[in-house]
Amino acid sequence: MRFLLAATTAALVTFFAASPSAFAFCRTTTVATDPSFSPTDGKCWDQGIFVYHSRTCVGYAVESPGSSKLDMAAFRGLVETAFQTWETSSCGAGGPTIDAQFVGATSRSALGYDTKGGSNASAIVFWDDTWPNGSANEVILTTLTFNKETGEILDADMEVNTAEIAFSLTDPVPPNGTDMQSALTHEVGHFFGIAHSPDRTATMFAKYTPGSTFFRDLTDDDVGAMCSIYLPGNQRQTSKGKVEGGACDTSAPPPPTSTAGDGGCNATGSDNLAASSLPLVALGLVLTGLQKRRLRKRVRR
Ligand SMILES: [Zn+2]
Repeated sequence: MRFLLAATTAALVTFFAASPSAFAFCRTTTVATDPSFSPTDGKCWDQGIFVYHSRTCVGYAVESPGSSKLDMAAFRGLVETAFQTWETSSCGAGGPTIDAQFVGATSRSALGYDTKGGSNASAIVFWDDTWPNGSANEVILTTLTFNKETGEILDADMEVNTAEIAFSLTDPVPPNGTDMQSALTHEVGHFFGIAHSPDRTATMFAKYTPGSTFFRDLTDDDVGAMCSIYLPGNQRQTSKGKVEGGACDTSAPPPPTSTAGDGGCNATGSDNLAASSLPLVALGLVLTGLQKRRLRKRVRR
């Protein structure tokens, strides 16, 4: 099985590398990326299988009352715009065939995925007082829970670091500010199962340049990633070939029932966009953010 999966991944890379408009994008997989790994053209992290949303509609909820530091009505609008940006990608023959819909208010208790049920909405929550997830430079943390046998995403939560980051929700973005629309557009890419791209112009590039807004608009590389997963006819491209997508259902997918004797059936992986004012002086580049990748993997029964 491992050999077959590796062969599939290699074939995809070869296909894109041979394309005249070669894409650099990468997809998130079920195996956490080694912290020392950085994607390059034609070389993505290839351990594990691709993750994806099966259902053609998926739901997301926003913590209420939310952050006292943000205009929450404006924030909700920016989230909607971020999802629309990806969902209206032009894929040629149709697609992407997925629609994320706001399903209402939630609380921090919805973070994570409870295999015994409970509130499993994909939640967007805020940490106004203390950021519990590590470095203060982390902007938003997206955590995916997935079926590690199929790659189906079961839950996608975003945690917003309002404790440490002064977000800008309007234009113009201050020179050293953090543009919420840019950050959300990047994180929604992770929500859909897209990993960091080595393309420095892409929304899915790992480093955010303070004060910039170019992550708001997708590049061909980003669109190529989205269109490569959510195919016309509601099909999904998985590591095991094309599969039929699930029905439109904005409730949380149920936990997997297969155990396959491997000690667990789902796992989580997280990836976040981080920004800081640390310049890459040695490379003579513009101010870029410091990517703080913190990966977690939990295996649950
Ligand atoms: Zn990221």
